[in-house]
Amino acid sequence: MATNKTIAVIGAGQMGRGIAQVFAQAGFTVHLNDAFPKAIEAAPGLIGKLLDRAVEKGRMDASTAEETKKRIVPTPSLAELGQPQLIIEAATENPDLKIELFKKIDGQVAPGGIIASNTSSISITKLGAVVSDATRFVGMHFFNPVPVMTLVEVVRGLDTSDETVNETVALAKEVGKTPLVVNDHPGFVSNRVLMPMINEAVFTLQDGVADAETIDGIMKMGMNHPMGPLALADLIGVDTCLFIMEVLHRDLGEDRYRPCPLLRKMVDAGRLGRKVKKGFFSYE
Ligand code: NAD
Repeated sequence: MATNKTIAVIGAGQMGRGIAQVFAQAGFTVHLNDAFPKAIEAAPGLIGKLLDRAVEKGRMDASTAEETKKRIVPTPSLAELGQPQLIIEAATENPDLKIELFKKIDGQVAPGGIIASNTSSISITKLGAVVSDATRFVGMHFFNPVPVMTLVEVVRGLDTSDETVNETVALAKEVGKTPLVVNDHPGFVSNRVLMPMINEAVFTLQDGVADAETIDGIMKMGMNHPMGPLALADLIGVDTCLFIMEVLHRDLGEDRYRPCPLLRKMVDAGRLGRKVKKGFFSYE
């Protein structure tokens, strides 16, 4: 790919901001878009805070932090993205929403450029089918928090070309990540394995087997997991966990992927996790 070092990120939530930050740190100019003006307005300040903290802790020098901040360009309109070689979509995990969005994004990428989705579970083949060139569509699944986590799960859709996969792998390496390539299937590898465990932890809570602290304590101390599954659900976003379970349940068609009713109830109550300061635990 002819890297003119300009990309676009669509969705300025926790993942989109993290993706924008790592590309900007690696020297890319990043147009950051969101459907909600408030999310775009808040993004530079939130990213700036993380960069300032990295400077305070001696992990980054002050001039690198300032240069990184300048490379992130809040871009409220899709029409102003400037035809970048790469667009990464990181909007809400909802298939219909993403399909509508990709129809709009399609005309905004440079001819021959790559469109990537950071979806956690939705079929890359299905999303790629709505753009004009599915060979240039790929999954680029980052992990949360993006500036810290090294893995990128690169997902090959049915029509994704080898060239697109290779260029995506190279791009992930260029921003300091470790890419692993998988084939398209609901939940890919990461969430096919992780989400049923989180869902089961919520069933365990719902069944009154133990309270949230005890469930997480057992999984941390007994399985040597760095975080318990309920705290991880709060970090990922309880709504995102529900969306992913719905995709696994619908697309794999098996009862064992049924979202726990308590997971749905948490979302109905607005207890979405850390991003709203309350989920299975409180973050006030
Ligand atoms: P989030 O709720 O923090 O952010 C989603 C953002 O998308 C919001 O700012 C929202 O305003 C924006 N949005 C909604 N509709 C839009 C549209 N039509 N156009 C542009 N922006 C729109 O969610 P998140 O955790 O950042 O997740 C985003 C994506 O990343 C999802 O697909 C999710 O599955 C995936 N993902 C999440 C995690 C995680 O741990 N949270 C990890 C890997 C991948």
